Amino acid sequence: MSTAPSSVLETGHRELVDSFESFIRRELVPLAAELPEATDQPPADLRAYVRTRSAGLGFYAGDHPEELGGSGMPFTAVVLLHHAAGRSGCPLAPYALAGSDGPSPLLRQGTEEQIERYLKPLVRGEATRCLALTEPNAGSDAFHLTTTATRQQDGDWVLSGRKTFVSNAGHADFAIVVATTDDGAGGATAFLVPMDNPRLRIGQRYDGMSGEPLSELLLDEVRVPADAVVGGEKGIGAALGNGIDSLSRGRLVVAAQCNGVAEHALRLGVEHARERRAFGERIGAYQHVQEHLVSSRAEIEAAKLLTLACARLVDDGVETPENAALAKLTASQTAIRVVDRSLQVHGATGWVRGHPLEYLYRYVRMMTIIEGTSEIQKVIIARSMGLG
Ligand SMILES: Cc1cc2nc3c(=O)[nH]c(=O)nc-3n(C[C@H](O)[C@H](O)[C@H](O)COP(=O)(O)OP(=O)(O)OC[C@H]3O[C@@H](n4cnc5c(N)ncnc54)[C@H](O)[C@@H]3O)c2cc1C
Repeated sequence: MSTAPSSVLETGHRELVDSFESFIRRELVPLAAELPEATDQPPADLRAYVRTRSAGLGFYAGDHPEELGGSGMPFTAVVLLHHAAGRSGCPLAPYALAGSDGPSPLLRQGTEEQIERYLKPLVRGEATRCLALTEPNAGSDAFHLTTTATRQQDGDWVLSGRKTFVSNAGHADFAIVVATTDDGAGGATAFLVPMDNPRLRIGQRYDGMSGEPLSELLLDEVRVPADAVVGGEKGIGAALGNGIDSLSRGRLVVAAQCNGVAEHALRLGVEHARERRAFGERIGAYQHVQEHLVSSRAEIEAAKLLTLACARLVDDGVETPENAALAKLTASQTAIRVVDRSLQVHGATGWVRGHPLEYLYRYVRMMTIIEGTSEIQKVIIARSMGLG
């Protein structure tokens, strides 16, 4: 780690980050070297190996307490690991850490039986899940879901509806489906649905700009038992309420991923600017090129400081939606600008399919959409300022 201003907030976690970086270098980089060049997404069995190996070393889902199979690390450490994974540029490194297919904070509110059956295998990296929240007419506005959950006389629930843009649906062991219940409690409720339920079907595939396709999930009168409600009876109507904290942490993780990717892109830009010559000079000598790289460095450092400060506050028990929104908004927009500038510094070389910046340009674009769009982060921040 450097003596950059943000390094003051990394104190206490250096050894952990060093050992994670050494794991990436020693084990993941050689595995990644065997991947076909044009692949955006490593095969599922390799991802599963990386997950379980990393869990065995205590990195994957490391913020979960030891009794759940984690290593009880502070949230700041998790954020630093995500940053290190992005900064490494190793395409396997992000899979060594829990993401949107890993342990859902919603499940921390689960019953004892749900924690045993669903959460622990996720923490160990032995299972993955997907989250089916978004619908054709409910994306940012998740309070107007039309997927319904109807309680039956015997206590079972029947779920019907259509979910869109679901990540990892093709590999998940189970889905967390958020639906509106009809029993008067109102509000959204999360249900655990094994992916092999015969009335749960994967519909359309959405090929995105990067990574694996997202999926449509069709629920055609999917019957689940009463104990499929996350959190049991008290979980009815509580999914979005319980999800507030999880969204804050998820957004800080996205911010950390963005900062890491941005730092990687900046390093590529600086290396290229130091070597590439034009008009008899190294291009890094030209102020227009320096402007791209210097602005990027300043913006990354600011985004990192913000993200790490918010993570430290979470560890101190201060977890506010607006802090996470500030960090996610800043880091995601910064990462998009930084990748764009570094690609510009590379000229045509960076535009060619297969170049790391060509991939990062496509990859980073989702960051202002996932876990709440930039506009929604601004809505949250505006509300915290007493506006709107
Ligand atoms: C890579 C990727 C992975 C995803 N994975 C999942 C997943 O696993 N599970 C899942 O359920 N969903 C997933 N999604 C869907 C994602 O959560 C939604 O795309 C996101 O919530 C935005 O919803 P939307 O696309 O319907 O856009 P909309 O909500 O229709 O928004 C369209 C535009 O309007 C703006 N807007 C909307 N409301 C407001 C407002 N009040 N004020 C100002 N501007 C507003 C938005 O910011 C946006 O710019 C994924 C999406 C992507 C791209």
